[in-house]
Amino acid sequence: MSGRIPQSFIDELIARADIVEVIGRRVPLKKAGREHKACCPFHDEKTPSFTVSTQKQFYHCFGCGAHGTAIGFLMAYDHMGFVEAVEELAAQCGLEVPREQGPDERPEAGLYDALEAAARFYQDRLRDSEPAKAYLRGRGLTGEIAARFRLGYAPDAWEALRECLGRTEPERRRLAAAGLLVPRDGGGHYDRFRDRVMFPIRDVRGRTIAFGGRILGEGEPKYLNSPETPLFHKGRELYGLYEARKAVRNIRRLIVVEGYMDVVGLARHGIDNAVATLGTATTAEHLERIFRITDEVVFCFDGDRAGRDAAWRALGAALPSVREGRQLRFLFLPEGEDPDSLVHTAGADAFTRRLDEAVPLSDFLIRRLAEDVDMQSVDGRARLAELARPLVRRIPPGVYRELLVEALADTVGLTVERLEPLLTSDSRPSESRRPAPRLAPLARSNLVRKAIALLLRYPFLAREARDIEALRRIDRPGVPLLAALIDDLAERGTLTTAGVLERWRDHEHHAALEKLAAENVVEDEEVAVTVFRNATGRLLHQDAERRMGELSQKAAGTELSDTEKAELRGLHTVLRTPLEQAGQP
Ligand SMILES: [Zn+2]
Repeated sequence: MSGRIPQSFIDELIARADIVEVIGRRVPLKKAGREHKACCPFHDEKTPSFTVSTQKQFYHCFGCGAHGTAIGFLMAYDHMGFVEAVEELAAQCGLEVPREQGPDERPEAGLYDALEAAARFYQDRLRDSEPAKAYLRGRGLTGEIAARFRLGYAPDAWEALRECLGRTEPERRRLAAAGLLVPRDGGGHYDRFRDRVMFPIRDVRGRTIAFGGRILGEGEPKYLNSPETPLFHKGRELYGLYEARKAVRNIRRLIVVEGYMDVVGLARHGIDNAVATLGTATTAEHLERIFRITDEVVFCFDGDRAGRDAAWRALGAALPSVREGRQLRFLFLPEGEDPDSLVHTAGADAFTRRLDEAVPLSDFLIRRLAEDVDMQSVDGRARLAELARPLVRRIPPGVYRELLVEALADTVGLTVERLEPLLTSDSRPSESRRPAPRLAPLARSNLVRKAIALLLRYPFLAREARDIEALRRIDRPGVPLLAALIDDLAERGTLTTAGVLERWRDHEHHAALEKLAAENVVEDEEVAVTVFRNATGRLLHQDAERRMGELSQKAAGTELSDTEKAELRGLHTVLRTPLEQAGQP
């Protein structure tokens, strides 16, 4: 995808979209006073504690604490990425998402159309092709499955697609850009996919972005994928994800397999939660997608050497994303079997049982390392610790890493206290025994939190702050953030709470801001002005008092400089400004 989405567009989008409508399309909402309520879609409950506020354009669940903006809701509920959620919301509002690069850089729209037309073309050809249908029947597939996955057939001809969809030069250029036609050396184009069963690869919104093709008869290559295009990056896409999410509302576990036939074959047996990487090793981007949807993943690999090596690479990619509450496991299939063949011969229940018994990541890691050393010797066990070190260090500190270190300690016959420094020697030994780092606390002071919560609820308050110059100088947790928010919102008082949160989405304290936005503050705008002015005023007082204490202490020992004396006089003035008065208009 090209270009960043301009912030001004996000501001406009949040102003235009109505969160009640966005959520209401997916969750039945009931009006209750100023707000809307529902049973929470993110946790199980009988009485509604999920609320949606029109004024804040923000949702909040008092049960599980889930909260966010309309964009945040789409990300959480529909498992979209940020850009996808923005596109979806924009589409609902009838807006086109602009990009900061020039508009001529955006051929994507045309590519989607070309790919959609091609998907229909291949589907139609499948209907006409007896050999292709016979092949699919032979693999045990039904018409229902073929329709669900939009399977198709690319005819055994050099120019079938080109003749049907590429009648003009611009059309042919677009098909080539979509990866469907290949330019000939001497000019002209021919079909990339010939005599293949076609598997459309769809994005989260169901749009076809590429194809995979399996040769019908003998021939090489057996599997052929679309090349990388502006729409298709194989290191990021997972085949079958769109279909899995359509079939299963709450995906508890995702199964990652190696081929499209495996995904389709498993779905044929009612196992709808499988996805496939597209001829690449599992990447960190794949895992990021997966963990947006579920905390439990099982990787399926062949039991042979190649399969084990591929599993080891997947483990390497996964280490930075393992943590408490996430389960990553590995299932090694008997030699000569793939998930498709195994589910056919053994049945869905037996296959599911194997999934339940798959090897946890930590076991796989230790077993694999132990294969390469002599575990009977002291040297061998020391070597194992050595081998484990770079791997352990890629795991974020936390409970998961602690448990792995304990298991390793067990294996090499050392105490955790002895082993841990060896594994994580660049950090202090005690560090990794603490739970995973939480977000740095935004501010411990209730005053700062209250001021920020008020500002989030009523962004127009940014213009009511007392002495922003002095606030900016206060060096105390949370105050620089408060000052930055005031600066950002001084000219943007008409934003909603959600509008502010979206402006601050990439900020390190975004999660903390969202939490504060969920808090209830005074409902009366005039009272809010007074409370906010007093809160900022009190911050200035407190800081003046602190500084005064410093200076008086210093004055007891030495003579103060002229600047310090002047500062002291200024501080007296600040402290004489009564708060109550400051709050009155
Ligand atoms: Zn909830």
